[in-house]
Amino acid sequence: MNDPYEILGISKNANETEIKKAFRNLAIKHHPDRGGDAEKFKEINEAYQILSDPQKRKTYDQFGKSAFEQGGGNGFSGFNGSQGFSGFNMDFDFGDGDFSDIFSSIFESFGGRRSSSRSSENLDITIKTEISIEESLTGVSKNFELNRKVRCEKCGGTGSKDGRIDICGSCRGTGQVSENRRTPFGIFKTIGVCKNCGGTGKIIKNKCSECSGTGVKRKIEKISVNIPAGISDGEGIRLKGKGDAGKTKTGDLIIYISVLEREDFFRKDDDLVMKVEIPYSKFLLGGKIKVETPTETLEVKVPENSKVGDVLKIPGKGFEKNFGRRGDLLIQINLKIAKSLSYEQKKLIEELEKLGM
Ligand SMILES: [Zn+2]
Ligand SMILES: [Zn+2]
Repeated sequence: MNDPYEILGISKNANETEIKKAFRNLAIKHHPDRGGDAEKFKEINEAYQILSDPQKRKTYDQFGKSAFEQGGGNGFSGFNGSQGFSGFNMDFDFGDGDFSDIFSSIFESFGGRRSSSRSSENLDITIKTEISIEESLTGVSKNFELNRKVRCEKCGGTGSKDGRIDICGSCRGTGQVSENRRTPFGIFKTIGVCKNCGGTGKIIKNKCSECSGTGVKRKIEKISVNIPAGISDGEGIRLKGKGDAGKTKTGDLIIYISVLEREDFFRKDDDLVMKVEIPYSKFLLGGKIKVETPTETLEVKVPENSKVGDVLKIPGKGFEKNFGRRGDLLIQINLKIAKSLSYEQKKLIEELEKLGM
């Protein structure tokens, strides 16, 4: 396969309109019905199929042509180059495309996992949740209430009341119908979803009363999720099979984590920064102070002659990293100023002032 950008003669930054325009022009020029080269036309169509689909374009930009080649590990759907013209799903509607499952594709393209069925249904459920910075340090268990589609128990997901499922007569069970479409560029044979069966290839005579023949039904489900220690803001957790049930598979639940930081308690890479206030005398004389972390109370030694803003490093008390390693705790010491002074304190400070301190 050649570079789809090169085939359409456009730049890597071409926008949707430019892609459509380039394709339209080339399709008219090379259409076989108008004496064009069939191979060339096929190539143009393949290039357009990739670049007109945001997901596929993204995948191409990331992984190159190997992600699309026949027999490639990704098994990307949508191309049936060996079938000749009738196999193409020519889309001259130039619609906006389906953006609904861009999210799932980001995950899926990394895993190289893509279902081979040309299904655009997005079965993943995405939710967001906030946790405190303390919870991100220790890990936390959170409860969620999901409204998800699950397999109908009454019919076992078949959608049929009596188990009788017939093969659709219109498409002979394929779920697809081909028709000749007249377009400004000539007549195209197009493949569409069978309207009679909705693309399933099956006809259910007596529909299950519980799920109206869909085989799935909505259910409120409580779920408890362990959010691991060390998770950072913007990271997500994927729970396989906890998304919506579909015709052939069940999606995943993706939980995006937002960590609420505090001004005196925040994350810096894998280190935990804590700001603490200590009295003036400790800066000068040094000594031990107590620092309360979310998990323990630490006794920390402040060196003599410390300065405001100095950082005391406690190794291995920060956020969890991979392989059981942890970042450090960085304690920033600041001056604690008394709100009011007793007579005795005032006297002593006045003495200090006389000594030039
Ligand atoms: Zn049912
Ligand atoms: Zn059908």
